[in-house]
Amino acid sequence: MPLIVHKYGGTSMGSPERIRNVAKRVAKWARAGHQMVVVPSAMSGETNRLLALAKELAPSRVSPAYNRELDMLAATGEQASSALLAIALQAEGMESVSYAGWQVPIRTDSSYTKARIESIDDQRVRADLNAGKVVIVTGFQGIDEQGHITTLGRGGSDTSAVAVAAAMKADECLIYTDVDGVYTTDPRVAPAARRLTTVSFEEMLEMASLGSKVLQIRSVEFAGKYKVPMRVLSSFTPWDIDIHEEAKSGTLITFEEDEKMEQAVVSGIAFNRDEAKISVLGVPDTPGIAYRILGPVADANIEVDVIIQNLSKDGKTDFSFTVHRNDYARTIELLKEKVLPALGAQDVVGDAKICKVSIVGIGMRSHVGVASTMFRVLSEEGINIQMISTSEIKTSVVIDEKYLELAVRALHTAFDLDKPAE
Ligand code: ASP
Ligand code: MG
Repeated sequence: MPLIVHKYGGTSMGSPERIRNVAKRVAKWARAGHQMVVVPSAMSGETNRLLALAKELAPSRVSPAYNRELDMLAATGEQASSALLAIALQAEGMESVSYAGWQVPIRTDSSYTKARIESIDDQRVRADLNAGKVVIVTGFQGIDEQGHITTLGRGGSDTSAVAVAAAMKADECLIYTDVDGVYTTDPRVAPAARRLTTVSFEEMLEMASLGSKVLQIRSVEFAGKYKVPMRVLSSFTPWDIDIHEEAKSGTLITFEEDEKMEQAVVSGIAFNRDEAKISVLGVPDTPGIAYRILGPVADANIEVDVIIQNLSKDGKTDFSFTVHRNDYARTIELLKEKVLPALGAQDVVGDAKICKVSIVGIGMRSHVGVASTMFRVLSEEGINIQMISTSEIKTSVVIDEKYLELAVRALHTAFDLDKPAE
């Protein structure tokens, strides 16, 4: 019997009525001859609500002890939704049981609020499946070696689902969400955006890391590493839609380049509004500068994205990089306190009103001039490029936030993404 993992996001689990719909859909899949494992998120808004309560009590205490409690707290959201789904399935006449991460167990490291899955014991789940039950496994959470509850970072239920699918060697992992697949870009920004029927795992990885919010990036990494067939599809189709039609809907994430049907050079435009740019001005241009600036930033657990160092003039240079906007103030403070005096640099300046726009496509490997087309399009729109970074399959630019929509739409048109694929 094929083994299928379904993952349902918070919106899909948002009310008793929606949970009932999920249960009916899952029951349909089970009755059609599949072994079913279901990984739900917390009901929509619940994780935010819980974390806001903690903030009310202790706004800015960041310590491992505090983060441990955050995980203890946030994990309850998925425990509740999982139990509700099992109850709804039982009401549909299915045998069903739910497990919290620690009951499976899903083992993680101890980095509270952003733990990584290390291993999953599939015995208990498999025994239940073999006994004919639908098994619900909480998303987003696990347990560390010392028995503390951990969570996997916001959006982590995607990763739970793919990890469970990998551990159980599932035939497919279906990620049900409030959009009907992966789009060429966000349709709210470019109305001409359209759904991709397939996207390669590498493109998805770029798109997920570049700010497309459809999937948590770690879930895509997991899928790539363990070759888990994965599909993103809508949970808002009627639950009783024909199962064969449903099984082909949404966007399939592929692993083989030649499986990709749509051979566009650029498959999508990703963007990220959550970045901020920081420049250290007048730093002596000597070996070790990047390390002396970014070392303390990394030590403070701040992730750095695009980096550029200017040509030096009179032995001095400017060094710029981007960080997540939430880390902006902290990074400036840290540089002013620790790095500026030690380096004898002139100043630290920053701009939190920037964004990053990227074109992504495995076709870029075999085509030249793609990046220059991007630069031309932006220049024709009068958009100044502040920073550029590239990889084999993407080119990203940092621009003023106010040009985001314009840039995305212009690029979407220029790279032929407005037209339906043949
Ligand atoms: N409930 C968690 C969150 O809101 C995990 C998830 O939904 O994937 O981030
Ligand atoms: Mg999500």
